Amino acid sequence: MPHELPALPYPKEALEPHIDALTMEIHHGRHHKAYVDNLNKAIAGNPALEAKSLEQIIRDLSVVPDAVRGAVRNNGGGHWNHSFFWKIMAPNAGGAPSGPIAAAIESAFGNYEEFKAKFEAAGLGRFGSGWAWLVWNAGKLEIVSTANQDNPLMGKAIAGCEGTPLLGVDVWEHAYYLKYQNKRADYLKAFWNVVNWAEVNRHFEAARR
Ligand code: MN
Repeated sequence: MPHELPALPYPKEALEPHIDALTMEIHHGRHHKAYVDNLNKAIAGNPALEAKSLEQIIRDLSVVPDAVRGAVRNNGGGHWNHSFFWKIMAPNAGGAPSGPIAAAIESAFGNYEEFKAKFEAAGLGRFGSGWAWLVWNAGKLEIVSTANQDNPLMGKAIAGCEGTPLLGVDVWEHAYYLKYQNKRADYLKAFWNVVNWAEVNRHFEAARR
């Protein structure tokens, strides 16, 4: 199987109390695993697709055969998004950003509080399931959101936005329902306590290269 479920980079209880252990266990071990398994199923028997990296696959869905394009979009996106998400969070993290991203956020959004409010609004405003993202697009920072498992790397025609993801938050109910029930706003506020700004800075530096 070309694609594998990556291990969580920390124990499932490491993000408590902000993200609970049971949510992490089910989210990673069942939801993310299903995206990986279903992506492998969708590309099975297509050597050209099987030879591609996950990022190559989601960056060019137009070459995916019609019969499996929907499955590859949903499950390839799901695999990429969750692999990114686990690493954008960390224990003993959160708080105000530091490094180059801190200055860039101030210059683009005024200050960290303004940025947080806009990012939370993007997550809250996504009706149903999806993601909110901070992306680097055409030389500037933007806050966008995508539906379902779409990703800005898929491009405007598919995802409705574009850019390189630097930070992202999963706003599917499965990401927060056990602890926060219907209170997505509370989950989004708690998310700031676990943001791994070192990882955001790594993405930011790579995107500007
Ligand atoms: Mn999810």
